[in-house]
Amino acid sequence: MHSQDTQPEKQTRPVVTLKEGREQSLLRFHRWIFSRAIAHKPSNLAIGSLVDIHDYKGAILGTGTWEGGNIAVRMLQFQRAIEDERDFFREQLTKALNLRIALDLVRDNQTDDKTRDTIFRLVYGEADGLAGLIVDIYGDTAVIQAHSTGIYLRIELITELLLALPTLKLKAVYDKSSTTIPSPQIDFCGDRYLVGKRSNDFPYENGLQFAIDLEKGQKTGFFIDQRENRQLVESFAKGRSVLNCFCYTGGFSLYALRGEACQVASLDSSARALAITEENVKRNFAEETQAKHRTINADAFDYLASLEGHEYDLIILDPPAFAKNRSSIRNALNGYRRLNALALSKLAPSGLLFTFSCSQLVSPYDFRMAILTAAVDSGRSVRILHQLYQAPCHPVSIYHPENEYLKGLLLYVE
Ligand code: SAH
Repeated sequence: MHSQDTQPEKQTRPVVTLKEGREQSLLRFHRWIFSRAIAHKPSNLAIGSLVDIHDYKGAILGTGTWEGGNIAVRMLQFQRAIEDERDFFREQLTKALNLRIALDLVRDNQTDDKTRDTIFRLVYGEADGLAGLIVDIYGDTAVIQAHSTGIYLRIELITELLLALPTLKLKAVYDKSSTTIPSPQIDFCGDRYLVGKRSNDFPYENGLQFAIDLEKGQKTGFFIDQRENRQLVESFAKGRSVLNCFCYTGGFSLYALRGEACQVASLDSSARALAITEENVKRNFAEETQAKHRTINADAFDYLASLEGHEYDLIILDPPAFAKNRSSIRNALNGYRRLNALALSKLAPSGLLFTFSCSQLVSPYDFRMAILTAAVDSGRSVRILHQLYQAPCHPVSIYHPENEYLKGLLLYVE
């Protein structure tokens, strides 16, 4: 009898078989299969298809998306094959939401503006079991960034499931994958609203309201990963003169102003970023506090080098990733050394330096060594007060350390 009359016919999925021994990393839940690990695959396997992965003896290791590059497969599920794609994505999105609920980031009926919080990362790729998918929440808008073709081809399904998630009450979903999907091998529609339109509301982080530059801004429009570090800046700002280098849209500056810094200078090489910073300051503070803030449109290295006195007693250095690939690590470390030596030498006595690296390729140890050499270069006495990390809504899978990228130090300079 034809299967239409009974159960739908079980789909047979293409199988990719690994070389002997190459199953080990999958048994340890690492989510990338490199092309050199593959023994067989069907010919004409379409980029972005779901594939079942077998070990060399034919045992199932899980299901992933076929990406065809150096990272040939990104694993979605281990130990058994995905049976129903929709169920799989719904379950993973629900688990991701549950973690953010546990972090108290998802709150219903927020009425008090002073504690309102409507910005967080809902899905962080491999760490949330959704290799290749980023979803950031800004109020009632979700921004999706696909880092793999497999995810991009399922963006409509993911959008539908996001809209159905309880508590979020999303009205708009924006696709911002133009800079992150790898392949020219599929039809790419460009960045666009998949559902709804640009919101006129400004979302909140810890009671501070931010304009989010979804369409033209960096990442998905905001650096959600610095959330807790900004709170730490607020707690140390009182009475201090603050220089926020690489300020972008002014995240750290707003917290410093709320923490009663005596003055805050926001520095960036982008005039557009500074214009948004100014707007954000006006949106959140009365004139008296606004008067404590100014912007500096300059290169951070040049500006720090040009400082003559010790006019700042709290400096923040949160530069863009200096190392984009392995061959640039050495140059990146030199860059961190030079930048931090300048800041350390210009800080007022008893000064504080918040210094960060978001280069995934620079390890926390290497970063610390770069700061050590910078401290030696500056001739100052330097102590570490805090080791800093990415926000918990950017969790790190212990099995997939590539998720870990943001590290920083809070230094006390005698
Ligand atoms: N600290 C920010 C994020 C920094 S993003 C936050 O919390 O939101 C990096 C910023 O550095 C960008 O806005 C970019 O315009 C700026 N930038 C890059 N190179 C620079 C340079 N040499 N000097 C000053 N700003 C620079």
